[in-house]
Order: sequence, then structure tokens, then C-alpha cells
Amino acid sequence: MGSPKKIEEYEWFCPQPFINIHKGIFGQIRPCCIIKETSGWPKTSINEYLNGDKLKTFRKEMLTTPGPEVALNCQTCIEQEKHGNDSHRKTYLGYIEYRKPEIKEELESYLETDMEKPFIKTMEWLAPTNYCNLRCHMCGSGNSSSFAKENQDIGIPLRPYLGNRSLYKNDDIAAKDIQEIQDNILDNLVELKLTGGETLAIKYNYDLLETAVTNFDTHKMDLRITTNATLTPKFNGKNIFDYIPEFKETIINVSIEGWADRNSYIRYPSNWGSIINNVHKFLEMDNVSLIFVTTVNSLSAGYLWEIAKNCEELIEEYPDKFHPFATGSLVHGQWEKYTVSAIPLELRGQYIQNYYENPVDHYQNSRYIRDYMKLISYLENMPFDEKKHKSMMRDIQARDKHRGTNLLDLWPEWSPYYGC
Ligand code: SF4
Repeated sequence: MGSPKKIEEYEWFCPQPFINIHKGIFGQIRPCCIIKETSGWPKTSINEYLNGDKLKTFRKEMLTTPGPEVALNCQTCIEQEKHGNDSHRKTYLGYIEYRKPEIKEELESYLETDMEKPFIKTMEWLAPTNYCNLRCHMCGSGNSSSFAKENQDIGIPLRPYLGNRSLYKNDDIAAKDIQEIQDNILDNLVELKLTGGETLAIKYNYDLLETAVTNFDTHKMDLRITTNATLTPKFNGKNIFDYIPEFKETIINVSIEGWADRNSYIRYPSNWGSIINNVHKFLEMDNVSLIFVTTVNSLSAGYLWEIAKNCEELIEEYPDKFHPFATGSLVHGQWEKYTVSAIPLELRGQYIQNYYENPVDHYQNSRYIRDYMKLISYLENMPFDEKKHKSMMRDIQARDKHRGTNLLDLWPEWSPYYGC
């Protein structure tokens, strides 16, 4: 038997449908968090997901010819790759190429089996609650109870599955999920990923952490936490700082959308001082690395260079632990308002100019050049969508009125469109 086909030889390959499970707040199981299309993905048990037709067809397209399932599910990555070399898919390919090369080899062999036996190495669990203390503009009621409450206050309908509650939580599902993860997943896991809601403010996440550290050798497992870093509460007498030393390495993804006041406006009402304070606390711990991650949305797209510039000090202070920030997830898709397409074409020239006028001098410069070119490509090439623009402006103004904020304090260039 010859050596297995190399991953690079497939036309459109992503490791996630083969090695990762993402379980969403309302129970939907999918290969990754980037897939927004929910139709067809089951809300059943992990075993049923792994043996279901939806996953089998998706995998088959990746191993033969990309077809409708890839086009539908991977549309964000496809769009990202039209504008440069980066995408979530490329990040995950990089993960098995550089961070876990042993998985890549095993995976290549696994792909040539009937794949009946699961090969799940990473799992992202969103506990069954939408609890979050923030109301980020580009969020939704299903991901934040505070945002849902604000929607109720200003007359915006909630996601249908919330009914008329702004806070969703389900103790029974959390207990069932944790049991299933304990029985089927944790033993082989190399990375456990927790996301929210606000991850660090949800008790269920600490229940899962306690299960993992009590029953498994978590010193062989990485922990990845996505958090807004605004708070670190205790549950059952322990906070996140008690669990971090129990894992091999902990990667903290701190979600921000701008530097200081810009972040506080978009990720309302976060306190920038608390975030930076917690960032330092994390970085002072052993075996912790930290990265700021952003979305690319209509308000952030012209200003992400500010984060890159301001991160320089942290990179210098923690050279092996603090990573240059990731100009992450493109806000994209038919239900999203805060997309680059909502930015009027007249504003984009100045935004593009800002990237040319504010290069980053640091040694990571080459990485940022790539990121900046991608952002410039979004700004140059994504068409203007007037309907989205108007809908977004209405949304901003309604939230400004309710919060007592004003977009124009920090984004004065939007004044011709504000109040129309
Ligand atoms: S290509 Fe992108 S959307 Fe598709 S499975 Fe991979 S990460 Fe998810």
C-alpha cells in the first residue's frame, strides 16, 4: 500500500468536518463555528451527528469534488479567499501543519478509511445559555442575553426560539451535554474550546472544566477560551485562574473590535481598563498565550490598524506569549447588517488610505502587510448594499438613543448618513 493522499492534493479541503465538533448554544452540531447555514445540521446527540447523512455528504464533497454543500456551508471562507490568502480554513490547515503535525499524518491515513470510527481531536462547546454581559453591535439575541434585553426594550424581535425571554439557559441540556462529552470526546481530545455568550461568566463551562480535570489527564490537552475579558467570576469557589494550570497550554482569544473607546462603543458597555488588567493577569501565568481577535465589520474595517499599532507594547512586554492580533472573522451573510457592504463607497478611500499611512514597524510587519492587503481588498471590492446600509444605520441610531451614546463621537465621517 502506498502512502496516503496528501491533504494539499484535495481541491477544497478543511480539517474541521473530520477532526472538530462545534456544538452551539441551542444544540445544533456543526463542523465549525463559521458555518452560519443551520438547515440540515442536527440538534441530536454527537453520535447521531457523526453518523448522519449531512456530515457524510459534506465530507464526501471535500474528498472528491466540492459541490452544493461546500458552496453553502463554506461561503465565508470562500469569500475570504477571494480577497487574499487568509481564511478560517487556512487557519485550521495551519493548525494541523504547524501546531499539531502529528494529527495531520494521522488524518491523511484516516481519510482513506471508511471513517466509521470517530477521529475528533478538537471540540468547541457553547454551553446552553446565551448569557452575556455585553451588547456588541454585530451580535444577535441568540448569543447575548443583554443584547436580547436591549432588543426587547427598543422593539426589535428576538430570535424565534427565545420566545419572549431574553435569557435562555437549560440545566438539563448542560448536564446531558457534559455527560456525552465525558463519555465520547474528552479522552481523545487535544484541544477543548469554550466560547459563549460570555464564556467566563457561565457556570456550565466551569462544570465541564471540573469534569475534564477530575476525570482526564488534562495536562495533555490544550484549553482555548474565547472571552470578552471583562470579568473573571468564581463558581463553586474557583475561577478560570484555578483551571488554567491544569491544562497543557491555555490560549486566550480576547474578542475586541477596536482599541479602547472604539471597543467600548462597539462591544458596549465594556470597560477597557478591566480588559487590559485581565489581559495582564492572563499573560503573567505560565503556559498561557493570548491573542486579540476581531471581526471585520462595518465599524471596525477602517480602524483595525489602530489595534495593530497599539499591540506593539504588549508584544514587546510578552514576546513569547502575546501574539499579533488576528483580523479575524468576516461579518458576512444575508442576515448580517454590520458588513463591509454596508459602508458607503465615499468612506472607503480614506479607510484604505489609513492602512497605507499607518504601517506597523514591528518585526511582525510582514504578517500585518498580508492582513492589511486583505482588508484593503474587502474595502475596494465588496459592493455597496444600500439596503444593508440603511438597516444598519437605523439599528445604530436606535441603540445610540437607548444607550445615550453617539456614533459620531468616534466615527464623525458617518455624519452624512446619520439621522437620514
Ligand atoms: S472551510 Fe470554513 S466554513 Fe467550511 S468547514 Fe472549514 S472553517 Fe468551516
